[in-house]
Amino acid sequence: MVLALLVSGCTTGNRGAWLKISGYTQGTTYNITYQDPDSTDYQEQLVKLLGEFDQSLSTYIPSSIVSRMNQGIPDVVADEYFRICFLAAEEVYAATGGAFDITVAPVVNAWGFGFTERSRVDSALIDSLLQFVGMNKVSLRENKLVREREGMMLDMNAIAQGYAVDVLAEFFDAENIENYLVEIGGEVRCSGKNRFGLDWRIGIDKPIDGLQLPGVQMQAIVQISGRSLATSGNYRRFYEEDGIKYSHTIDPSTGYPVQHGLLSATVVASDCMRADAYATAFMVMGYERARRFLEKHTYLDAYLIFNDEMGEYRVWYTAGMEKILSEEL
Ligand code: AMP
Ligand code: MG
Repeated sequence: MVLALLVSGCTTGNRGAWLKISGYTQGTTYNITYQDPDSTDYQEQLVKLLGEFDQSLSTYIPSSIVSRMNQGIPDVVADEYFRICFLAAEEVYAATGGAFDITVAPVVNAWGFGFTERSRVDSALIDSLLQFVGMNKVSLRENKLVREREGMMLDMNAIAQGYAVDVLAEFFDAENIENYLVEIGGEVRCSGKNRFGLDWRIGIDKPIDGLQLPGVQMQAIVQISGRSLATSGNYRRFYEEDGIKYSHTIDPSTGYPVQHGLLSATVVASDCMRADAYATAFMVMGYERARRFLEKHTYLDAYLIFNDEMGEYRVWYTAGMEKILSEEL
């Protein structure tokens, strides 16, 4: 879904003009900065790409491939976007012991964070919905979704946004654009250098409840090139009732919103799709489990912000993350 788009020319360097494109997609904003020797305006092509992408993976478009599968329509055929995203989701599901699970959709919907009205939740409802959860109960066969149980549904929201960033980044790669940054709703992928000839600088926000605007209160700055960064946290999407905070991250093993001290997880990986998925998985796992996972899987870098048992605000990050943190904020 693209509502508005602005293109404005910027400074010219030796490798061409710096251009900016911003707009709305997938219920959030996007910002793209790139340097192009020919000053090409890619606006139309990017809008078209995002439109095709949403027709595959957006649960907010009733006619999309994923929505039609979720409606139980038989023989819906997956396209390449769907296939790549589904396979990556299976991979992260397996790697995280099921913490990341896109079949959590019916439970996400019941708690009011999905694509249907919120239900009156009690433990009986959650128990009954858990029968429909488990990525080991679905597979893609000849590009069609096979599910063990009718009523099983997929929620791509924790991975598709990161994947959309990859799709746009790969578009720029194919156009031989060397220096760019693609950002959708805070998920980022960048290549080459910024306009100052340096690695790109990307801020990690402080996880303050209700803080909607990024970049206002920064925790740290990461300097990267040729990599992606994604953050998950429960400070933007949650609700409170009777003094209890309900987050939009659901633990698929219990069917309940997670309740622990991990406030946000920022992941740096080569592709944004996996950075996005793992950031969500870490929010499910919580600080201790996420840290143990990261100490074993060094291909991922992460920055975790959490409250410890004493309620103290703390941070922990991987050795690889330490190398790319900026000295100054
Ligand atoms: P993100 O902001 O990337 O962490 O994605 C959060 C969204 O992912 C939620 O709003 C749900 O739609 C969905 N979600 C919630 N819990 C899970 C989970 N355990 N595995 C996969 N997706 C989830
Ligand atoms: Mg995610």
